[in-house]
Amino acid sequence: MAVETIFSKIIRKEIPADIVYQDELVTAFRDINPQAPTHILIIPNKLIPTANDVTEADETTLGRLFTVAARIAKEEGIAEDGYRLMMNCNRHGGQEVYHIHMHLLGGRPLGPMLLRQ
Ligand code: 5GP
Repeated sequence: MAVETIFSKIIRKEIPADIVYQDELVTAFRDINPQAPTHILIIPNKLIPTANDVTEADETTLGRLFTVAARIAKEEGIAEDGYRLMMNCNRHGGQEVYHIHMHLLGGRPLGPMLLRQ
């Protein structure tokens, strides 16, 4: 069974977060440890632990992640210069919080997509 994370508490406003957008499907808030001048997490209000758990029933919600990302990028003034949308899955993907989230990163050139090991 899916186990709630701190993100569920953020959605319900039980703990503080800098929420920049919320509707009936998704919530977006600033990352507590930003890796770029703009670093916002966009998450489904429904708990989906990882990208592996996505089903067809989630397609509308997951589409909303993208429309909200585009809207926030414009509001943040980073749409024209560009930004990166990213979702990590499980251990090799570097996922730390098991409630799927789209990272919206921008405000500076972000460099190569992956670190060489
Ligand atoms: P992941 O590595 O799972 O893709 O990313 C998790 C992200 O959530 C990290 O960038 C981390 O800084 C952020 N994060 C973890 N806990 C909190 C929190 O309590 N509040 C906020 N705003 N961000 C968090």
